[in-house]
Amino acid sequence: MKTVRFANGVSVPALGQGTWELAEGYSPRRQEIAALQTGIDLGLTLIDTAEMYGDGAAEELVGEAIAGRRERVFLVSKVYPHNASRAGVQAACARSLRRLGTDRIDLYLLHWPGSHPLAETVAGFEALRAAGHIGAWGVSNFDTAEMERLMRAGGGAACASNQVLYNLAQRGVEFDLMPWMARQGMPLMAYSPLDRGDLDHPALEAVARRHGASPAEIALAFVLAAPGVIAIPKASSIAHVTANAAAAGIVLTADDLAALDRAFPPPRRKVPLAVY
Ligand code: NAP
Repeated sequence: MKTVRFANGVSVPALGQGTWELAEGYSPRRQEIAALQTGIDLGLTLIDTAEMYGDGAAEELVGEAIAGRRERVFLVSKVYPHNASRAGVQAACARSLRRLGTDRIDLYLLHWPGSHPLAETVAGFEALRAAGHIGAWGVSNFDTAEMERLMRAGGGAACASNQVLYNLAQRGVEFDLMPWMARQGMPLMAYSPLDRGDLDHPALEAVARRHGASPAEIALAFVLAAPGVIAIPKASSIAHVTANAAAAGIVLTADDLAALDRAFPPPRRKVPLAVY
């Protein structure tokens, strides 16, 4: 499994697992937990969640899935922007830790830019880090100008990552944000790498046929081909998570990448950051 290194020296697998819409009744709970546990066994040990998902229910489900496996897992969660005051992040983190059944979140993210001053949020994150409640902190849904604003805020340069929408159909970040983050040595976490399951495309199917793989595996292999990128697909079945793990072993050829570029053209100019 390819790994990606954060600036603090910690390495994580480039392929992890998302949890948005788990624990919301779309699939049986036992099946969703089994999918996450299978993922951990297959090496997808980075798990991404948020206080927002299912209003805390996704964190509780993750807590159940990782019980007895905590030390194998790199846990990512996110704080709502409206909770991101200096005191608010600390209170929100305590609630998330309780739901997750652990005493440490490895990477704690501000879910999207909000109205609390960034220096306040950073001060809250740093207090959590000093107390050992989080290993590192970062942001999500920050475009390049917002990252530059963060770097100018007190302590902002300690940001470990920025989690943004990135998949074949949404490649805008390749123009400026991805190179900007690469220059800082800051890994990019790609959310919705499977375009939320919208994978019905002839070019994707053609490349998939060449590799004896599924379109989902090729979509993931594309995201994983970018250096310094961590992909966090969400799967609610063992079949899906097993296919996703197989994507880590697919190497796309120059011909594959050219075919994908023709079908899903890379950006030629700045595109405002797309978000879900
Ligand atoms: P996604 O991972 O791009 O796609 C999930 C969809 O793909 C589900 O419908 C899933 O179906 C399907 N799928 C998974 N594996 C598959 C496979 N091998 N073959 C075919 N279909 C497959 O979408 P996402 O959940 O939006 O994004 C992933 C994670 O990123 C989220 O869960 C969340 O943790 C994070 N996220 C963060 C933000 C943010 O603002 N920071 C926003 C969105 C998402 P099943 O469920 O049936 O397996």
